[in-house]
Amino acid sequence: MAGFPIQPARRIKSLPPYLFAAIDAVKQKALARGMDIINLGIGDPDLPTPAPIVERLKQAAADPKNHQYPSYEGLLSFRRAVAAWYKRRFGVLLDPTSEVLTLIGSKEGIGHIPLAFVDPGDVVLVPSPGYPVYPVATGFAGGVAHLMPLTKKNAFLPDLGAIPKAVAKKAKLMFLNSPNNPTSVVMSKEYFTQVVAFAQRHKIIVCHDAAYSEIYYDGRRPASFLEVEGAKEVGIEFHSLSKTFNMTGWRIGFAVGNRQVLTALGKVKSNLDSGVFQAVQEAGIVALQLDDAVTDGLRKIYQERRDVLVPGLKKLGLAVDPPPAAFYVWVAVPKGYTSASFTAHLLEKAGLLTTPGNGFGQAGEGYVRMTLCTPKERLAEAVERLARVGF
Ligand SMILES: *Cc1c(COP(=O)(O)O)cnc(C)c1O
Repeated sequence: MAGFPIQPARRIKSLPPYLFAAIDAVKQKALARGMDIINLGIGDPDLPTPAPIVERLKQAAADPKNHQYPSYEGLLSFRRAVAAWYKRRFGVLLDPTSEVLTLIGSKEGIGHIPLAFVDPGDVVLVPSPGYPVYPVATGFAGGVAHLMPLTKKNAFLPDLGAIPKAVAKKAKLMFLNSPNNPTSVVMSKEYFTQVVAFAQRHKIIVCHDAAYSEIYYDGRRPASFLEVEGAKEVGIEFHSLSKTFNMTGWRIGFAVGNRQVLTALGKVKSNLDSGVFQAVQEAGIVALQLDDAVTDGLRKIYQERRDVLVPGLKKLGLAVDPPPAAFYVWVAVPKGYTSASFTAHLLEKAGLLTTPGNGFGQAGEGYVRMTLCTPKERLAEAVERLARVGF
């Protein structure tokens, strides 16, 4: 039987080219040569999920009442645990029945929210460099992403004053991300206050991605967007258990805040997915109730790693600041290099796998991203190798 040309939809064909394909080719070649590669590329915790969470999953998985479809909005007991955690961590009060929505990882909610609010041609404000899901999900809904460049000049914060009035007028949503991937920069409450005023003025729904709120250093805890006055009137916050509790494989997160926004997101979800396995939600409750000593231990490990890698890079003459939060190190490439050529140099000569900054948007050109998801001995070796090969 003759086939016919299989044609993907325009929304798929117009996806940006896979920037990492070229790196992958170089990586495969290096591996084939028998090179030992130090992975500074992945943003996925290398440490295991704390044991009490795993134990709870085992029990809950054996309970037949968890074998059926879960409720769309999530177990009330999980949403109550979220509200209790929010009160304890941020001093923010949430109604678990209307201001908390369980997600299949925060990526799921971020990916779906434009479908709830964006009509074809609507503008969505997106930080760049940034998590690629923001612009892609915008495009899938027929929206147009307006990029807000994060540059050294504006301290890697979106310059709200630089957004043209006509664009702000057409904008339906704004994505923000603090602590930030890939720059690790943290937004202050003062900054969030400006965001609320901007959103009120232009009737823009704020979607704040707080996936890294619990990965912080020197005891300086990042704020929640919802801590500032009026935030709940203009937006929601996405959270994830992935990075906080080394649970990236489990697929559980949540959104909190404005109930009308959450209702619309829930409507999209109930038509596309059927919620999170209840046994995973039961384990998620245990995670949210863990003693802070557990997450303190994880933060200590990341901080030790940061304090090996960053001073090491600095000593070699690279322009890099110690991140205040998240597990990313945003390194300016040395003179004579681009993001792509420095990434290739690091990989070919030193066996260091990093991510070129422009992979997160054109404004990331001139940087590479390194991650702290590798033991400190390997990070020390990464610095030694780089000292040997130079740049
Ligand atoms: C990892 C990450 C997420 C999503 O993680 P989930 O596992 O889907 O909860 C969201 N935002 C940013 C910026 C991330 O880096």
